[in-house]
Amino acid sequence: RSQQANSPARVSSLLLGRTFSTESNPIVATLFPGDGIGPEIAESVKQVFRAADVPIEWEEHYVGKEIDPRTQSFLTWESLESVRRNKVGLKGPMATPIGKGHRSLNLTLRKELNLYANVRPCYSLPGYKTRYDDVDLVTIRENTEGEYSGLEHQVVRGVVESIKIITRQASLRVAEYAFHYATAHGRARVSAIHKANIMQKTDGLFLKCCREVAEKYPEITYEEVVIDNCCMMLVKNPALFDVLVMPNLYGDIISDLCAGLIGGLGLTPSCNIGEGGIALAEAVHGSAPDIAGKNMANPTALLLSAVTMLRHLELHDKADRIQEAILKTIAEGKYRTGDLGGTSTTTEFTKAICDNL
Ligand code: NAD
Repeated sequence: RSQQANSPARVSSLLLGRTFSTESNPIVATLFPGDGIGPEIAESVKQVFRAADVPIEWEEHYVGKEIDPRTQSFLTWESLESVRRNKVGLKGPMATPIGKGHRSLNLTLRKELNLYANVRPCYSLPGYKTRYDDVDLVTIRENTEGEYSGLEHQVVRGVVESIKIITRQASLRVAEYAFHYATAHGRARVSAIHKANIMQKTDGLFLKCCREVAEKYPEITYEEVVIDNCCMMLVKNPALFDVLVMPNLYGDIISDLCAGLIGGLGLTPSCNIGEGGIALAEAVHGSAPDIAGKNMANPTALLLSAVTMLRHLELHDKADRIQEAILKTIAEGKYRTGDLGGTSTTTEFTKAICDNL
């Protein structure tokens, strides 16, 4: 299977329940450039899309400077309306202050738009050597509840409480998505990742729902793996895994681990799937404040996320062309950003991709 892992056709549409038409030309998509390196890498995507003549018109929205009472966050109501209307968009990273401050913008987006599944494909890139050359897996993360329910408070001085919510409805929905995704993409195995030996009620319910859904898909091998063992297995032999489905926090952590297997956060894309056919693509990484504004960021993760958006729109020719140009540029090795051991700026790397189109 790893032979085919990097062929563009392998990463086909993430589509489920699409309800919009791609007949309008150009197609309007929402763009959140985001914080930190976000605007720099969003600029790369715009340049590459222009160079590839992608028929997309961006509707750009920035994070507001004040809390919008209608969203109770710095995200404006208009920006959420834009995604609801366009049903497709690309999002740069958004920073969240650690341990204080406003509600996470990412959490707001996920909750307000009901982005219930976060799909994170991760595969070895041809021509970029890491310890592994056969990584080809997809992490599917429940995106709306679990440890990220946002319900935290102080019980008494010196004691705080954080509530992990697992519901049957959200667990069935993400499990259903995972099995549907596996079937649609010719994947053979779904692994549910959990800690139900300790979190008996919460992860126990999550597993129960995964089992229920698994019964409807007898052609897919279903297994359950405890999260700590999963980490060890991933590092020892990532080829053991295919599609992994898990509660929110585990998905956040495991997908960064997976990024490390193939060369780092600069390379891994994702797409958030919401009800009513919404697809909001974004890189797995954050706003990288340590390199923001320095023209050093690797735009690959956001570019490959934009490619998943094109596949969702069934613009496969454009998606193939851009994906091939990105992979070719990295494989040639002449232009690589610092995270991949190169010395190129974001701008130089982007230009090299455009030249390879
Ligand atoms: P991070 O992903 O921003 O950075 C981790 C490390 O990876 C840094 O050394 C960074 O320089 C490097 N890195 C990340 N993306 C890169 C790229 N494209 N090219 C080259 N190097 C890259 O994680 P962090 O530092 O923990 O978080 C920073 C901020 O981002 C926080 O406010 C966090 O809440 C936020 N965040 C947002 C999202 C999101 O919007 N989806 C995801 C994760 C973190």
